[in-house]
Amino acid sequence: MGKKTKYIFITGGVMSGLGKGILTVSIGKLLQAQNYSLAPLKIDPYLNIDAGTMNPIEHGEVFVLDDGGEVDMDLGNYERFLEMTLTRKNNLTTGKIYKHVIDKERKGDYLGKTVQIIPHITCAIQEHIKKIGKDKDFVLIEVGGTVGDIESIPFLEAARELSVTEDVCFVHLVLVPTLDVVGEQKTKPAQHSVRSLGDIGIRPNMVVCRCKDPLTDRTKRKISLFCNVKEEDVISDHDANIYELPLILKDQQIAEKIIDCFGMKHNGSELDEWQTFVDGLKDTDKKITIAMTGKYTQLHDSYVSINEALNHARSRYNCEIEMKFIETTDIEEKKIDIKTALNDVDALIVPGGFGSRGTEGKIECIRYARENSIPFLGLCLGFQLACVEFARNVCNLKDAASTEINPDTKNPIIDIMAAQKNIDSKGATMRLGAWPAILKKGSLAEKLYGKKEISERHRHRYEVNNDYISELEKNGLVFSGKSPDQKLMEFLELNSHPYFIATQAHPELKSKPLNPHPLFLGLVDAAINKKYK
Ligand code: GLN
Repeated sequence: MGKKTKYIFITGGVMSGLGKGILTVSIGKLLQAQNYSLAPLKIDPYLNIDAGTMNPIEHGEVFVLDDGGEVDMDLGNYERFLEMTLTRKNNLTTGKIYKHVIDKERKGDYLGKTVQIIPHITCAIQEHIKKIGKDKDFVLIEVGGTVGDIESIPFLEAARELSVTEDVCFVHLVLVPTLDVVGEQKTKPAQHSVRSLGDIGIRPNMVVCRCKDPLTDRTKRKISLFCNVKEEDVISDHDANIYELPLILKDQQIAEKIIDCFGMKHNGSELDEWQTFVDGLKDTDKKITIAMTGKYTQLHDSYVSINEALNHARSRYNCEIEMKFIETTDIEEKKIDIKTALNDVDALIVPGGFGSRGTEGKIECIRYARENSIPFLGLCLGFQLACVEFARNVCNLKDAASTEINPDTKNPIIDIMAAQKNIDSKGATMRLGAWPAILKKGSLAEKLYGKKEISERHRHRYEVNNDYISELEKNGLVFSGKSPDQKLMEFLELNSHPYFIATQAHPELKSKPLNPHPLFLGLVDAAINKKYK
């Protein structure tokens, strides 16, 4: 007989943005530390089939998985904290579930029945949850949105129905604000939120309170009394770096309490390595400045995986990083000159992106980094623009461009991939997911990865035009990683520069706190060398 899987639902109340995803993975991390297996599931109550068509300003970064799933950026934190490789099945949206049910209806699978939200949608949700939990001790389900939203109702109803037949624990996250004038933690929003959950028929086993300072005993007593939970099941989730939450929750024995809900056994837990990582973020003895170009640079969520990959790397070096965001249209419009933008930075990142806005400014930044020995890391679009810059300024092909930016260029250094030419629909149609690359012997890429065969995740439609490879190579550009059939350029580097490397892939998506990505470690190391040696 297989394991009897237990289900933990994490719901949120009062308002969005309280850190439900971080709470979910912190609980997951602690259950893993107790030697239990789990499958996480993020539910997004929107009608998009997946996050692939969503604008990063609106919804944050689109995270890409090995299987090519374009998913909510919370899945990035799931993979980072839980050190798991997830699949598109770990992200469920209203769009996916409705499509599944409607496709079944069209096939006649419902045998003439009236197809309804209850029971057909709610059953389909439960089936999905059970399927991903097969052979696992726990399924951790984060219900996106806020209790009280119309959109979340079918998912909460499915959770309630599941709790009738299965072993389920409900953890509800609320905001406990402190009003500056009185300096007192206020519990009323939490009370209302737990009451709304009660209206749906769900009584939380545990109330986690997002607050500025640790929850006082008085606040805990009040929440316990009004929200129908034991005082010890009121948990403080006070402001801290996201990576500290597992440690904060460990001190309050949240995993043990959840395990007790199910009458299972405690296996002890140890987070020493995680603690070392968190200490490395705080105990810093150096500080570097890294410039990052882009359209959405003012928004942390749009480049969250890059910011986190830098955190993972900097902890290893006990190094603080100041990010300097460069709106490259300002360079194009001569609002700032390139020297002012980059002369005080220790490294430059040109991240992925789409469309032409700001690309000329990015190309200027790459040129400045190349000519002034500033450590440079180019990611996806950053890789493509590094080729264009080299073609223009070293190979003297003055009008070199990507056809994404200038479709009429005489020198299309970067061109649409053959397989992409006739695609005009947007969802899940790019070159997506994990693809292998073979690294050149003796290259910087091979040295950094410490191996020859690697795999990275992709999300793009354009590629290096093979007609120009010999011209670029002749002038000193090294394509240090290629697809196994040698047709697709995956990495480039320059021998004459302390650290100039770029990849068609998105390595930031695979960096983990306890396993920082080599390209980011290399960049931080090179930046420290530039500043301190
Ligand atoms: N716009 C470029 C392409 O589609 C790069 C994409 C990216 O940076 N993710 O190829």
